[in-house]
Amino acid sequence: MSLKQQILILGAGESGVGAALLAQKLGYDVFVSDSSAIKISFKKELEENHIAFEEGKHSKEQLIFCNLIIKSPGIPNNAPILQQALELGKEIISEIEFASRFTTARTVCVTGSNGKTTTTALIGHILIETGLDVCVCGNIGRSFARELAKSDHDIFVIELSSFQLEHMVKFRANVAVLLNITPDHLERYNNSIEEYARTKFRITQNQTVSDMFVYNADDKIIKKLLPTSYGQAKQYGFSLLSELKEGAYADNENIYLNIDNHTTTMNIEALALQGKHNVYNSMAAAVATHMFDSRKDALKKSFQTFQKIEHRLEFVAKVHGISFYNDSKATNVNSVWYALESMKSPIIWIAGGVDKGNDYNALLPLVKEKVKALICLGTDNTKLMNAFTPHLEIIMETTSMMDAVNAAYRIGNPNDIVLLSPACASFDLFENFEDRGIQYKNAIREL
Ligand code: ADP
Repeated sequence: MSLKQQILILGAGESGVGAALLAQKLGYDVFVSDSSAIKISFKKELEENHIAFEEGKHSKEQLIFCNLIIKSPGIPNNAPILQQALELGKEIISEIEFASRFTTARTVCVTGSNGKTTTTALIGHILIETGLDVCVCGNIGRSFARELAKSDHDIFVIELSSFQLEHMVKFRANVAVLLNITPDHLERYNNSIEEYARTKFRITQNQTVSDMFVYNADDKIIKKLLPTSYGQAKQYGFSLLSELKEGAYADNENIYLNIDNHTTTMNIEALALQGKHNVYNSMAAAVATHMFDSRKDALKKSFQTFQKIEHRLEFVAKVHGISFYNDSKATNVNSVWYALESMKSPIIWIAGGVDKGNDYNALLPLVKEKVKALICLGTDNTKLMNAFTPHLEIIMETTSMMDAVNAAYRIGNPNDIVLLSPACASFDLFENFEDRGIQYKNAIREL
């Protein structure tokens, strides 16, 4: 048997395969194990790189002989394989933790319930425009480990989901951004918002006095947990409600950045990203990039040149005066709230899919004020129908994107908005949120 350290990687998705590529490059013996079927593209990659793997099971001997386990974020902590690993005293870490052990790059890490991808991409854009050697990775697309296996960089901007924050041990974020905490994925956290929030706060663990913690000062849950956060980083808030002396705040016209006795003002109208939620995201990005000495003019310009990301309140087209927006990535109530809030004309709202325990009450005031029709799109629409039938004149059920778009178009008048902002996951009728958004855009093109 080889004397090299044996690494067992659980899960063969983007995270697991990235970890395998890095571990192999570093000279470890690697074995990848997935209890389900492995996606063809990942299987091909493992084969081409001569990395041993199994699918449809986790065999006991691999567990017994390994020295280290790298766990993919999709595997819940109560999975039997993890219980067995703990009983055998095995060290279990995440892919992010593993990769971080092999680079001295600075890291900017973004987490939160909503806005992670947008803010991560915006931070990456600002730093790249400033001329720095930056790689954007993590939950946004390619894994940290995969990117590091390809090449090291000066800075990694990493989007982290709460799942990815589990099994972090020594990982340290030089800049940690916590955007907001609203109920999501609670099934993984014993239905406890406190447990979910604590996992998000792990982004601050191991931070030192020379690091930055950038947080939403308007978020009640964040404010409550802030005094007991793990790290020692310097804290910078961002807010729409109070004029923070250190951090960022905004009124209806401008964002004011107050950091280390310098003030920068940015006009909100000039920003590429519009909507209240994006004012939060822009403030977070402006504060987070401060540490890297971005020049003020470069900073302002990069906010204007940022390209919006697909499926996030994306304007699709105007057909006979009706504007269509694709917000397929809005899979919870909070993100829908911001979508409805930002619209200025009567809305025909397309929503539905797999409900993750939504409480629709928070949407009622905006729905009553702005929504003229609700088109439910899902295999089981009972909850949505029950929540909104008493409050809307037009409410209907559909089971295909084509039917939903056609129905919206029939109801619509010039100047109306058709908004796909589902508040639900997509896998009852679609492959994923991207597939849902693309089918929406295709259906609009056929009108
Ligand atoms: P995430 O990566 O956290 O899922 P995204 O940037 O992909 O976040 O956006 C997901 C959804 O949330 C989109 O519908 C988007 O319009 C909305 N959103 C973006 N930023 C925020 C925010 N700060 N607060 C609430 N909703 C937001």
